[in-house]
This record gives sequence, structure tokens and C-alpha cells, in this order.
Amino acid sequence: MSQTIGTIFIVVAPSGAGKTSLVAALLAAEPTVELSVSYTTRAPRAGEVNGQHYHFVDRATFERMIADGDFLEYAEVYGNYYGSSASWLKGRLDSGRDILLEIDWQGAQQVRKVFPDALSVFIMPPSMQELERRLRGRATDSEEVIARRMAEARAEIAKATEYDYILVNDNFESACADLVSIVRAARLTRAKQQVKLAETLATMRDGR
Ligand code: 5GP
Repeated sequence: MSQTIGTIFIVVAPSGAGKTSLVAALLAAEPTVELSVSYTTRAPRAGEVNGQHYHFVDRATFERMIADGDFLEYAEVYGNYYGSSASWLKGRLDSGRDILLEIDWQGAQQVRKVFPDALSVFIMPPSMQELERRLRGRATDSEEVIARRMAEARAEIAKATEYDYILVNDNFESACADLVSIVRAARLTRAKQQVKLAETLATMRDGR
């Protein structure tokens, strides 16, 4: 178990809840939050850049990295491995940075065990009907894929109460404002401020 100066934010959502757009808006509003770039064995989608969206590796490489203990957490999602680099995270946390992990529920459970102070946010769609409408709106997925994602979403929503925050992405602007509020409030807690403002607090206390 480890305590950190920076905050680890974990963002989890069912596919179609709008997580990627919300995270992008958060990073634009709060540029000092750093997004962890995961490793995956999934093939890159059109427009995805290696090292930016993911580190794309083959299965043998990923399995070697598991054996070497390179991952803070990893999970198999839809038949592919995904994992977060332990050494990258440690380096950034040592520099006092705030980190955002955009991972699945299995990864969230693993990170909470190592970093109990990590703050987790679950993003919900406003309704199952709206989720289905959004998944269909993508027009890229087959009926089978949509049905599988809906079943997954139900299972993930059943675990929503494991998270510190539950955010409903009904209106994008207000969901985004909510996410930014979570990050800003987390930075102002006594635990974080005691460390960040140690010098200032001491100076003021001593009347210097
Ligand atoms: P996609 O293939 O659509 O980019 O991601 C599929 C799922 O894998 C999403 O739920 C995403 O949050 C999750 N995921 C992405 N990176 C990681 C990771 O490093 N660890 C875990 N556990 N899940 C991840």
C-alpha cells in the first residue's frame, strides 16, 4: 500500500458512456493531469498512434512484461490484454504529478489494492435505452457486438457502487464540469495540501 502526493484518478465506464470524450475534455481543462498510456495486444484502429493512444505490443511481449512484473495492473478485455506500466506511474508520482488511468473495472480493483488513496470515478449512461442508441449510432459494430457490449454494461453498472464517484453523462457539458470538479476538489484535501503547502503553512504559523 502506498500514499502519494499526486492523486491517481481511475476512470471507468461501460463502452458507449462517453468516457473518451469526457477524459479528453478533462485533460484540456486540467493540462497538468497526465494520462497513462496503456500497453495492449489489440491491433491499432484507424488513426491510432503507437505511444500516444496505446503502446501496441504482441502477446509474447505482453506476457513477458507480466512475468517481469512490469504492470501495476492488467486485464484481458474482449480477448486482448491491456495493462498500465508500473514504472511510468511510479516515476510520475514521485514527481508529484496527478495521473489519470482510463482502464476497465478489473484494473480499477487491482489499482485500489495497491493505492487505496486512488480516486475512482464511474461514468454512467443516462439509461440503457440511451446507451443502446449511442452504441448503434457508431454504426461500426455488428448486432452481436452491440448485444455483448450491452450485457457487459449491465454487469459493470451492477458494480457502480465500488467507486468513489458516480457521474451520469446525460449532458456532456455538465458531466465534464462534474469531472473537473472532482479533480479540483481532490487537490484541495487536507492530506494533499499538508504536503504541498508544508513550507507555507510552517512560515505562516511561525509568523515569518
Ligand atoms: P479499447 O480497445 O476500446 O480502447 O478499450 C477497451 C477497454 O479496455 C476499455 O474499457 C478500456 O478502458 C480498457 N483499458 C484500456 N487500457 C487499459 C489498461 O491499461 N488496463 C485495463 N485494465 N483496462 C484498460
